[in-house]
Amino acid sequence: MTTVKESPAFKNASKEEIYNKLVEIFGKSNISDKQADLYPYSYDMTESKPHMPDFVVIPENKEQLIELVKYCNEKVIPIVPYITGNNVGGLTIPERGGIIVDFGKKMNKILHVNENMMYAILEPGVTFGHLKSYLDKYHPNLRYSYPYAPPYASVVGNALLSGMNNLSCKLGSMADSINGLEVITAEGDVVHVGSCFYGKEEADPDSWWCRYPIPDLMGLFINWQGMTGLVTKCAVQLWPKLPIDETLALTIKNLEDVGEVCREIGRSEVVDDIAIASSEVIKMCCEIPEPKRFPGEPRMFSIAKISAHTKKEFEAKKEIYLDVVNKLIKKGKDVYAVEHFDEFLKILNLRLRCYIDVPSMVLSLVEYSGLTWFGSYAPTHKIEIMSAKVDALFEKYNIPFFLYIKPMKYSHFCIFRPIIRYDKFKDEEKVRALMNEFADALIAEGAIPYKTPTWLTEKMRKIINPGWIKLFEKIKKTMDPNGIFNPGRWNT
Ligand SMILES: Cc1cc2nc3c(=O)[nH]c(=O)nc-3n(C[C@H](O)[C@H](O)[C@H](O)COP(=O)(O)OP(=O)(O)OC[C@H]3O[C@@H](n4cnc5c(N)ncnc54)[C@H](O)[C@@H]3O)c2cc1C
Repeated sequence: MTTVKESPAFKNASKEEIYNKLVEIFGKSNISDKQADLYPYSYDMTESKPHMPDFVVIPENKEQLIELVKYCNEKVIPIVPYITGNNVGGLTIPERGGIIVDFGKKMNKILHVNENMMYAILEPGVTFGHLKSYLDKYHPNLRYSYPYAPPYASVVGNALLSGMNNLSCKLGSMADSINGLEVITAEGDVVHVGSCFYGKEEADPDSWWCRYPIPDLMGLFINWQGMTGLVTKCAVQLWPKLPIDETLALTIKNLEDVGEVCREIGRSEVVDDIAIASSEVIKMCCEIPEPKRFPGEPRMFSIAKISAHTKKEFEAKKEIYLDVVNKLIKKGKDVYAVEHFDEFLKILNLRLRCYIDVPSMVLSLVEYSGLTWFGSYAPTHKIEIMSAKVDALFEKYNIPFFLYIKPMKYSHFCIFRPIIRYDKFKDEEKVRALMNEFADALIAEGAIPYKTPTWLTEKMRKIINPGWIKLFEKIKKTMDPNGIFNPGRWNT
């Protein structure tokens, strides 16, 4: 059930007073304090505890937001930025009540695409589906890197949270692809971060091409989960869309081999991306209702993408990839390369074909009332031990072995993510217990959770270097002296 703790929103202003101010700023039709309108913002699909906001506002422009921030800073009213709430970490649940700022409804325009410098300036509400269809139509030579998230999830939200998408083996975290930001700070200042920093008022749309060689202030806003300011524009890098783009699959019989496969294919430098998933995940994607692995079936399955300008370049890259596979086989690894996988998919399951052309909706992943994961950035040399630990824990809790791994930046690090689909109203306590055990087991190996719910940051804060915590607190205090931005995140 959605609970309401004491809300600090009304310490310095009455509810009526705040309501009237919001009407003045946004207009009556763009705000609500009705329980039915607020309820959807009070929870998400994860095990994070729900909490109701007091208001929701739908902004149209930054002038309204400047006024809002100045008012909330003066009256100490929490502001929780929200786009579509699909972060899978409880990050937009208003822990202390206050005002949800819903960017998804009206601040959702693609403002500019610079073909030459290959970037797009987006408002926060632009979705992956919107960006893909826009680029396919108007800039067919360019592409973005897309996640397995629903097509209606936000590009900017994903980049600000260090998302991992389908060029991530090559590019790494999507936060690295941010060229510039426009942010409103707690004082109501509009800050342009990156090469767009020249000029007093508006930044020239053709100046958002890089973030170097000035001090990289981007770090003040990336991964802070809306705790340091309101982003109103974000420039993301785009990439050439090559004419040849093919899929290569690999079965991995034994779990203990997955680490080496991940590292070796990653560092071959020929794949744009690899998704390595357990057989149970692949079966789920083929819409088998309660996927199980039967004895003798491979434990893991890898799907790699290779793109190329010409057939010759593709053949050369594929040769390197197959060479890596053959070396693994010679070392005794039980792996099997499925060539011409795109053709194979046509008879296997057309739905799986859609999942390879992301963004698309992995319906079977969200068909339960609950979805959660221990999503982490992790050291690739620990994949073996982490996989074994996760396998044992899934077995202990009698929950299907859903594991997803991705080498990032050609194997410099990886994403390691055990996933749980569950019935929120039946299994939440069991899932909480398993997530706790995942956290203990994987943090012990150096994994760093991303999109962190508060129960997890509470745990992490006890073991993080004290110097880091002190600096982190100092920055948060400086950026947000009254604690109005997404309060409660990271247990601030
Ligand atoms: C089924 C499923 C599959 C997924 N697969 C992937 C995947 O493969 N890879 C991946 O990386 N992610 C994945 N995700 C997560 C998801 O893609 C991203 O977290 C998502 O794109 C974030 O967008 P959102 O609209 O959900 O943002 P929200 O959840 O609404 O917001 C994200 C965060 O940003 C903050 N925020 C929002 N707007 C602003 C603003 N204007 N200024 C400052 N802060 C702001 C919020 O407070 C919150 O902390 C998946 C999610 C689901 C449900």
